Amino acid sequence: MPLTLPFRPRRETYPPDMWTKCPSCSEMLFNKHLAKNLRVCGTCGHHFRISAKARLDQLLDPGTFRERDEGLASRDPLGFVDSKPYPDRLVAAQLATGRRDAATWGFGALGGRRVAICALDFGFMGGSMGSVVGEKVTRAAEGAFVEHIPLIVVSASGGARMQEGTLALMQLVKTIGALERLRAAGLPYISVLADPTTGGVFASFAALGDVNVAEPNALIGFAGARVSAGTIAEELPPGFQRAEFLFSHGFVDRIVTRADLRDELALLLALLGPAGATDAASGSARRG
Ligand SMILES: [Zn+2]
Repeated sequence: MPLTLPFRPRRETYPPDMWTKCPSCSEMLFNKHLAKNLRVCGTCGHHFRISAKARLDQLLDPGTFRERDEGLASRDPLGFVDSKPYPDRLVAAQLATGRRDAATWGFGALGGRRVAICALDFGFMGGSMGSVVGEKVTRAAEGAFVEHIPLIVVSASGGARMQEGTLALMQLVKTIGALERLRAAGLPYISVLADPTTGGVFASFAALGDVNVAEPNALIGFAGARVSAGTIAEELPPGFQRAEFLFSHGFVDRIVTRADLRDELALLLALLGPAGATDAASGSARRG
């Protein structure tokens, strides 16, 4: 009698909670290894997007982060409805991320130095900047100003949040105003540009660091490639709006892998001087 073996279809998919396919090199990456590698592909170096919480965990000295203004949440003063009402989008994003909005800010230590830090979360409505994100970046800058310590902002955002209209655009001015006070006080501000940093976020606080540090291959720019090409009616150069292109054109000062980012920021904080520096002349000299 022939032996009947149970039929097993070839497995075409992997359990999503165990494996992640690298969008760059198509390698299947074991999630535990990926997490250990700071969510960077060990084969090709692709930097996956990470949440604000993961970012803060990676950068700050363990157990030092104290979040501020956790409860700030956007309202819907415009009664904005696109394919669905803005409040519905907010609730969905809040349920998906467990956060009230796309930014997290607070105080912590990096390499033993106290800093004010704000991180944006692309997973919350594309990290878009509405009144809450703008307010948190502003409060982080004000917190750095009051405590006389450096500021770090890690951006990952598609730009201004269209559902908040002019209120979102007003955040550009507000954040820049707060950063200007830091500049006048000679306090260091380091901007970290992760993938993607575009639109109104790039057009305001993300581009204004004393040092602008980008992650490899991060998409960075104002308008999208299609709009840019249409505006200048020319074909765009290869690698347009990637970190390396911006570095070669002077918009970005450093490109740093995620594994080196923490040490790099600690070094920059040390180089940019003691937090106590209030000499306006040295401050403006440093900003060139
Ligand atoms: Zn890869």
